[in-house]
Amino acid sequence: MSGLIQIKHAVKNQIRQRLLIWYDINKRSLPWRETNDPYDIWVSEVMLQQTQVATVIPYYYRFLDRFPHIRQLARADLQAVLKCWEGLGYYARARNLHRAADIVLNKYSGTIPSDHDAFRQLPGVGDYIAAAVQSIAFSNPYAVVDGNVKRVLARLFCLSAPVNQPKSLKLFKQYATLLLARKQPGGFNQAVMELGALVCTPSSPLCAECPLSMVCQAYTTKRVGEFPYKIKRRPIPQYQIAVGVIRRGSKILITQRQNQGLLGGLWEFPGGKIIGSEEPYQACLREIKEEVNLTTEIITFIGRIKHAYTHFRIVMDVFLCRHLTGKIVLNGPQNAQWVSVDDLDYYPFPKANHKFIPLLKKHFNEIDNQ
Ligand code: SF4
Repeated sequence: MSGLIQIKHAVKNQIRQRLLIWYDINKRSLPWRETNDPYDIWVSEVMLQQTQVATVIPYYYRFLDRFPHIRQLARADLQAVLKCWEGLGYYARARNLHRAADIVLNKYSGTIPSDHDAFRQLPGVGDYIAAAVQSIAFSNPYAVVDGNVKRVLARLFCLSAPVNQPKSLKLFKQYATLLLARKQPGGFNQAVMELGALVCTPSSPLCAECPLSMVCQAYTTKRVGEFPYKIKRRPIPQYQIAVGVIRRGSKILITQRQNQGLLGGLWEFPGGKIIGSEEPYQACLREIKEEVNLTTEIITFIGRIKHAYTHFRIVMDVFLCRHLTGKIVLNGPQNAQWVSVDDLDYYPFPKANHKFIPLLKKHFNEIDNQ
């Protein structure tokens, strides 16, 4: 469906031809471009959402090494999958991929559907993933729209729809679909994204090197700096958090978050937001009592770490605490375990926790050596 939008036939052809030739010569050599396996391509596309290529590469190799076929992924324990994903963030992606693998194994005998609509039904498969996997792995004619594509299109056609507003997506999708080279949809989709990543970059685009400069409306009218339009976002909030590492003998207590929601299924230490005029240590003791029903006292302050999530930032004060009384009753976490400091390596933790776990290990080593 193109609505009222029209792009001249000659312009479309020129864009397709120039872009595909440029891509052939200039594309980066990336591991997921060396394969036609739909599973490998699917894994790479899931990882690449919201994440930079350089970050994804080692995770991609490690994940496929650990789960080389969808069968292994489907049969794996979720904790093993999350451990493999640890540090990559957006853990719902891993949980959904795991669930989707189970469905592919049981409903499609382990064969990833080459039918767009059937594939789109799987957990975690949205419009982008469906179009990317279907076009690259199966040559099905679906156009991808991600941040790179929107930026390129906004400049090529001087589109004033804000790229960071969900309601603009329909318009960008229409343009992307009109432009799509139907005989080479996978290559074309990757070419537009690659142009956005390497040439039509967010700031200082390399228009002099761009294969599309002759047909680019922003370039030919000297308005490149105006596009893409964006709605200004509100500043992201910052939260003060207090966390307690509870010691009992040689063990410490870790708790597991519920499977749904932010950082779902990962392990952490009891803690939460500081309320009102509370001191961090008071918040720490209160949160421990509320979350796991243990009465504790502070042994020492471990450290302060800062971490930025997509929609908020945290400043986290971490305390080492001593268990005094009480039995564990969970209020929030789905699970709790007493483990040694060395055991922490076997559990998936959020990135913020990894910032202070080395401090914790150092502290325990010093105590052991005293
Ligand atoms: Fe982007 Fe410049 Fe190419 Fe236009 S000419 S598509 S603004 S790099």
